Amino acid sequence: GIIKDLSDLKKLSVLGHGNGGTVYKVYHKNTRSFYALKVLRLNENGLGIRQPATLEAEILKRVDSPYIVRCHAVFDSGNCNNDGDNGGDISFVMEYMEGGSLHDVLREHHRLSEEVISVLAWRVLEGLQYLHGMNIVHRDIKPSNLLVNDRLEVKIADFGVSHVVEGRFEGNDYDAGTCAYMSPERVDPERWGGENANEFAGDVWSMGVVMLECLLGCFPLIGPGQRPDWATLICAICFGEKLEMPEKASPEFQNFVRRCLEKNWRKRATVLELLHHPFVTRKNCCSSDKELGDYVLGGR
Ligand code: ATP
Ligand code: MG
Repeated sequence: GIIKDLSDLKKLSVLGHGNGGTVYKVYHKNTRSFYALKVLRLNENGLGIRQPATLEAEILKRVDSPYIVRCHAVFDSGNCNNDGDNGGDISFVMEYMEGGSLHDVLREHHRLSEEVISVLAWRVLEGLQYLHGMNIVHRDIKPSNLLVNDRLEVKIADFGVSHVVEGRFEGNDYDAGTCAYMSPERVDPERWGGENANEFAGDVWSMGVVMLECLLGCFPLIGPGQRPDWATLICAICFGEKLEMPEKASPEFQNFVRRCLEKNWRKRATVLELLHHPFVTRKNCCSSDKELGDYVLGGR
C-alpha cells in the first residue's frame, strides 16, 4: 500500500461522527494527498471483535470499484488490555470524498430531481452488484453511507465497517438511525421469513428507502409528526400499508421504489433486475452529473 504508517497522516479536521467512531480529514505528506481516516474504538465491549475486524480488513483492501469508496489501508493499534482481545482501536484509511454524504446533500437541498436520483440509483446498484458479487452484504445502506466526491460521483461507503461494529452495541439497537433503513425480514425475522432470507435483498430494500427519501426530502416511512423511535419504525416497516408517493413522481420512479420496498423479500426486485429497470436505464449520465454538480457544489 501507499500508506505505510499512521504517523504519516496529519489530522486536519473532523468530518463526522458515527456509531462506532470518528472520521477525520487527513493529509499524507509523501503522496501529497488527502484521505479520510475512520477510527473505530474497540475498548469497551470489544471482546472477540478484533479477530473479525482483521478479517474484514483483508476483504476491504481487496475491494476495488469506481462505485465503492476505496479503503487504502487498515491499522490496528494493537493496544490490548489484559483480556487480550479487546481494547485499542482500528483505523481505516479511506478515499476522501469532498462532497460529504448524501445525508449532507439532502440537508442542504432537501430534495433531488428524478434525473439526479436515477444516476444515483444506477451508481448504488452498480456498487451493490460488485459487493454482492464478492459475497459481501452491506447491511447499512443509508444516506450517510453514500458519499460524493469532487467529480460528483456517488459511492458506497462503510460496508464491512458496519460488520465490524456489529455486536458491540448490545442494547443500542434502539438507535433509530440503525433500524430505519432495515428491511422487514431483518427487523421482524419471524413474520417476514428472515431466517432463510437472501441477505442481498435487504440492501435492495434499504436503497429503495433512500431513493424515496431523496425525492420526498424526508424519511419516507413515517409521518413528519411521528417520533422515529424503534416501535414506530418497526410498525411502519413491517405493517405500513400505504407508501406515500409524491404526486408528481413518474410512473417509472414509483414502480422502481415499489419493487425495492416489496415487504416479502422473495418478491422484491433483485439488483440485476433493477439495473435494467426503465427508471435507471433512462438516465442521461452527462447532464445528470452536471445537475448533481449544481446541487452538491451550489451550497459550498
Ligand atoms: P455509521 O457509524 O452507522 O456508519 P455514519 O455513516 O453517520 O454512521 P461514519 O461512517 O462514522 O458515521 O461517518 C460520519 C460522517 O463522516 C459521514 O456522515 C460523512 O459525512 C463523513 N465521512 C465518512 N467517510 C468519509 C469519507 N471517506 N470522505 C469524506 N467524508 C466522510
Ligand atoms: Mg458511515
